[in-house]
Formats: sequence, structure tokens, C-alpha cells
Amino acid sequence: MITEIRPYWKNYIGGKWVDGSEGGRLAVSNPATGQPICEVARGTARDIDTAVAAARACFNSRVLLDMPPHERGALMFRIADELDKAADEIAAVECYDNGKTLANGRDEIPLTQRYLRYYGGMADKLEGRQIPLGAGLLDYTIHAPYGVSAQIVPWNGPLPVGARSIACALVTGNTVVLKSPEDSPLSLFLFAEACERAGVPEGAVNIVCGLGAEAGTALAAHDDIDHIVFTGSVETGKSVLRAAAERVIPCVMELGGKSGGIVFPDADLGQVAASAAAGIFKHAGQICSAGSRLIVHRSVYDEVVSRLVAKAEALSVGPGIDDCDLGPLISARQLDRVEALCRAGVSEGAMLATGGTRVAGLDGYFMAPTVFTDVRPDMRIAQEEFFGPVVVVIPFDTTEEAIAIANGTDYGLAAGLYTRDLTLAHTVADRLVAGQVYVNQWWAGGVETPFGGMKRSGYGREKGQEALLGYVQTKNVGIKL
Ligand code: NAD
Repeated sequence: MITEIRPYWKNYIGGKWVDGSEGGRLAVSNPATGQPICEVARGTARDIDTAVAAARACFNSRVLLDMPPHERGALMFRIADELDKAADEIAAVECYDNGKTLANGRDEIPLTQRYLRYYGGMADKLEGRQIPLGAGLLDYTIHAPYGVSAQIVPWNGPLPVGARSIACALVTGNTVVLKSPEDSPLSLFLFAEACERAGVPEGAVNIVCGLGAEAGTALAAHDDIDHIVFTGSVETGKSVLRAAAERVIPCVMELGGKSGGIVFPDADLGQVAASAAAGIFKHAGQICSAGSRLIVHRSVYDEVVSRLVAKAEALSVGPGIDDCDLGPLISARQLDRVEALCRAGVSEGAMLATGGTRVAGLDGYFMAPTVFTDVRPDMRIAQEEFFGPVVVVIPFDTTEEAIAIANGTDYGLAAGLYTRDLTLAHTVADRLVAGQVYVNQWWAGGVETPFGGMKRSGYGREKGQEALLGYVQTKNVGIKL
């Protein structure tokens, strides 16, 4: 296991490893200790300019576009193979800069490889249509790339989130400038190294770490980008959309969530507790599609709560590198936010069944796994995203009421339900306003299943075949023979 983190990391622009053009550096800290672990080059607007110019030059050179699609696909397979060489270091940096558990850190590598191979395999299968117009005319469509795809990635899953967007962009002939998250940038630098070793053309992939308010705004507002993929919070997403509107460029927006699972009385309650606990406590709840609300039929409410509390209290909390079940939150600011929202829940009358505060005696930003009961759907804790290991349990009496509660937030990223009744499952799945619905297993699906939001959770899809369509625009060619 790697325990030494390289002390300094540079940005990857135009096929070269470069310092920040203004000489600045950003400190990266370990959320399990609060201590700095290394520095990264601080990308500023000037570095974003250089990166966009490199991506533009690469796009204009047609090196990717002229490559047969199956070769673009083979390139994704080579990047995936190269990640094997970095596997130990990736698992380590995911623990040290991101706070993942060692098991989750290790899982990031095969997950990322699956995205690369999935989209690599689709590179030569994205086909247009031939449209019959009658004698003397021939008409067909082409999936044309946008050009330079600007991608802004959050800190909670930078490697798989970044890699899947880069893969979609490259196999469709776009080039990429990716702004990596300032809190957890390291795994994407290792990804850039894999791209370099795999022979990705210079300028096709540029990875620049910088602050959101500096490099992020510069990228979203850049005059020479053609497309934006943003994954992050709703508030930041809105500002990115305003910048995109100025230039009328398309966006894929993957934003936050407050996803709810409905527990019907006939459900297997052991399965419910295991699935609901995994759905909120994985990565300490810092997953956009975490199951942060559980909407439970009153007849099984007490039993579900007691099973869930038992699961929560059985979890070990501590540094990911020690392979505890639950690592830290990303920052002191985030821990303060989650605790403050818990206090708001208590003052609004909700009951804490377990947790509700930071874990005493640990140096880092550890939040106790938390279960709230007696929660009303209009409380802040039932409406606002915690992005922490906190689940609110809301009772219901009728199916209509359960559906109304599930759909009763601004978000629409994921939803779930637990029942043995197939008719009920299909009927309710149809009524839930969410981009993904899980029946009897939170996160059923994965790389192959289209993922994205409804309502304020965003639009466009990542994962699955649908994602590729977000990276191309349809061009129609009509010919008078
Ligand atoms: P964030 O919005 O604060 O930051 C996301 C990225 O945007 C970071 O790289 C940040 O540096 C950058 N950024 C910040 N301000 C910017 C600005 N003004 N202009 C351009 N870029 C800017 O989000 P976060 O705290 O890093 O991540 C947590 C949020 O992301 C949660 O709301 C979570 O639900 C959401 N998320 C969504 C998905 C999804 O697929 N739907 C996946 C992961 C996370």
C-alpha cells in the first residue's frame, strides 16, 4: 500500500506537465486529519486559455476526427489498461485527498475502466439514419462532435465522473478541457498520466486544477468552448448555465439530489435496511444519488427505524486508509454545514434516533451516521441536500401520500421503492419524478444505465448509451442526385 503522496503535482495542458502560469500553488489536505498532504499547480484564467487553445488546435487538426472510430475506441481500451499500473496510487490518493475508504478507493479503478471500455466499445456503433425522400434525393444524418468540451467535476468522485465524460467526448471526436476539483484533484492527474502513456494525442485531454471561482468561472465563460458538462451543486450549476447562455452553448447538467425510497409494508425489511444503509452511508453520504430520505409505511415504521439504527451504529468511523466503514466529510466547512442542518432538524421537532453530531475524539471531519425520525416532509432536513451520512425517515399511510412525499422536493435525481408486489412496483415507478428509479435495491444498475436528473437535479444523461448523444449534434445532409 502506498503511504507517501508525491509532494507536488502539475497540470496537464497540450500534452505537457506545467506549473501554474502565475506560479501559484494550492494546498491539498487530508480530510481524515485536517493536515496538508501536498500541493498542486494553481490553474488560473491564463492556464484555462492555454488549455482551451490546445484543445482547439487538436480539434482543428482533425487527428481524432480522421481516426477510424474503432481506433478511437481502442484508445479508450489502452487508457483503461494503463490505469492498472496506477491502481495502488489511485486507491491511496482517493483515501488521502478525498476521504474514501480503502475499499471504495480500490473500487474506483475497475469502475473507471468499465466506463472507458463501455464507451470504447461504442465508438464504432454510433450510427446515423438514412431518410427516404423519394426518387432523385438522398438524405442522411451525421453525429457531429461539438468541438471543445469543457468539463467541470466535483470532488466526491472525480476519477469515474471525469473519465466517463472524457471517454464520451473523445470517442465522438471532441477534445476536452477538464477543471478538476481543488479539494480532491489527485486521481485525475493519475488519469492524465494514463492518457499520456496510452498515446492520447496532445491537446485532446487537458486537465487543469484550480479554484471554482477562478479557473471554473474562466472555463465556463470561455469564448472558445463549444459544450459544457457540469457536475456539482445546483447553485454553481445555475451560474455555469448563465455563462453558457451568453454563448448559446449546450450543457449537460448533473446536479444535486434529495432522493427518497418508499418502503411498502410487504417489503423484505431486512433487505430494506441493508439497501437503505448502503444507500446513505457509502462515502459518508457524499454521493449525489444517495438515498437521503426513507418514506416508510406507518405499519412497519418502528421496525424499519430500529433495523436502520442498528446498521448505522454498527459502522466503524475513521480514516479510510484504516479501511473503516465510514470516512470523513471533505472539509471542516461541509462538516459545519451538516451539523448545522441537523440542529435545524431538532429545532423543527424531528427526533434524532442516532448520530446528529461530529464524532468526538477524531482529528478529521467525521460525522456520525445519523437517522432522523418523526420527520415532516416540509422540514428543512427533508428538503435540503445534506451531502453527508444523514437519512430522514418520514411516515406515510396511503400510496398516494407516499408518491406525493417522494416527488415533493425541488430535486429529481433518483428515487426508489421496496415491495414484493410487481404491479405496485411498476405503477409507482411510473409516477416517480426522477431520472433513475431503483426497486428493492438502491443503485440497481451502473455503467450501462442512463443517469441524470429531472427538475433541479439537471438534464442530459451520463452513463449508458444515452450519454453519447449528449456529446454530438445531428447534422443532416440532403442531396439532389
Ligand atoms: P460545487 O458545485 O461546489 O463544485 C463542483 C465543481 O464546480 C468544482 O470543480 C468547483 O471547483 C467548480 N466550481 C465552483 N464554483 C464555480 C463557478 N462559479 N463556476 C464554475 N465552476 C465552479 O459542488 P461540490 O461541493 O464539489 O459537489 C457536491 C455537489 O455536487 C452536490 O450538490 C452533489 O449532489 C453534486 N453532484 C452531482 C452529481 C450528479 O451526477 N448529479 C455527481 C456528484 C456530485
